[in-house]
Amino acid sequence: MSHPPSTPAAEERRISARVSGITESATLAIDAKAKALQADGRPVVVFAAGEPDFSTPAHVVEAAARACKDPRMHRYSPTGGLPELREAIAEKTRRDSGLLVRPDEVLVTNGGKQALYEAFATLLDPGDEVLLPAPYWTTYPESIRLAGGVPVPVRTDETTGYQTSVERLESACTDRTKVLVFVSPSNPSGAVYPPDLVAEIGRWAADRGLWVVTDEIYEHLVYADAVFASMPVQVPALREHCVVVNGVAKTYAMTGWRVGWLIGPADVVAAAASLQSHATSNVANVSQAAALAAVSGDLSAVAAMREAFDRRRITMTKMLADIPGVTCPEPRGAFYCYPSVKEVLGCKLRGRRPTTSAELAELILEEVEVALVPGEAFGTPGYLRLSYALGDDDLSEGVTRLQQLIGEAHR
Ligand code: PLP
Repeated sequence: MSHPPSTPAAEERRISARVSGITESATLAIDAKAKALQADGRPVVVFAAGEPDFSTPAHVVEAAARACKDPRMHRYSPTGGLPELREAIAEKTRRDSGLLVRPDEVLVTNGGKQALYEAFATLLDPGDEVLLPAPYWTTYPESIRLAGGVPVPVRTDETTGYQTSVERLESACTDRTKVLVFVSPSNPSGAVYPPDLVAEIGRWAADRGLWVVTDEIYEHLVYADAVFASMPVQVPALREHCVVVNGVAKTYAMTGWRVGWLIGPADVVAAAASLQSHATSNVANVSQAAALAAVSGDLSAVAAMREAFDRRRITMTKMLADIPGVTCPEPRGAFYCYPSVKEVLGCKLRGRRPTTSAELAELILEEVEVALVPGEAFGTPGYLRLSYALGDDDLSEGVTRLQQLIGEAHR
């Protein structure tokens, strides 16, 4: 079949304004480019991925294998999730964050991503503004825009350890503000808010009558003296205006299984479930069975991963601190370092002068075959995100290459 030649105007009509406005996930794009180079035999060190490099625990895989043979798992199941999984998530939430929820306040989703998408779609009307502390994970603004909302970035930087404050949030708040996105531990910065600041921000949101969408997916990955605190636990008054997003991906090395959930007031959960019933129905039952084994088991697998991540975190932070022009506050959670490279920009490097972190990341990939994600992807140009969810030797090799390359920079 022949198609008429496409012109830019025709192209625009083919894809809706809503969807053509979305930017492809930069992290997934860089990861794909790096993996393609690796497949060509190039020794690329990849700091781009946002996933644990460990295998899913054996008992989880076995539970999934058993579920494959259970005919009940071969059929549609309730959109909101297998009843036993919703119950186990409610119990796990009580155990881990102290939030008391009923199973009907839990909606099982295809990963944390779908939980976020559904939370924004359920809460936002066109033009509603959402306060989004930056640097932010790249999916939030796109998910907010898809729901008709307007993301309002509230910038933070390394001088406050990438933590925002009530004053900054207040100055970005308007009479159109409906939601605050709160993420601790944070991707990409690794910031972990102390419990008193979580409480202060939560009280402010409650007083202001805002909703809070809080992403707790890295709750178990905190280091040194950092402690995780759940906002609706710190501020019970928020409970009726708060959606908690979580999932098994990071805690149990289960990124590919695609199981997450949202927790919220029963009317919000029912509305989001209704949306999901038309979009994707139930999450694959075999994955739900795997998630059930994960959340009802103990936390020994994540304790072992946390130990490895902590070791790598310390190595990476020290090695980055040795690079002239690079400033990196110590990350306290998740598995990312987020150094500022503002002082390197504009310097001469291998015959080029990168002036943005995006150009610098491209140069680094081309010259020393190290893949990392530029701050542009997280709403704060001038930074780079490096994941330390990779083997210790690769980590040292990759950061050594960076040290050598950036060490050559001169004005
Ligand atoms: N929230 C944050 C902060 C993340 O970094 C990620 C993944 O990178 C997710 C949510 C989504 O995780 P998933 O959809 O794999 O459950």
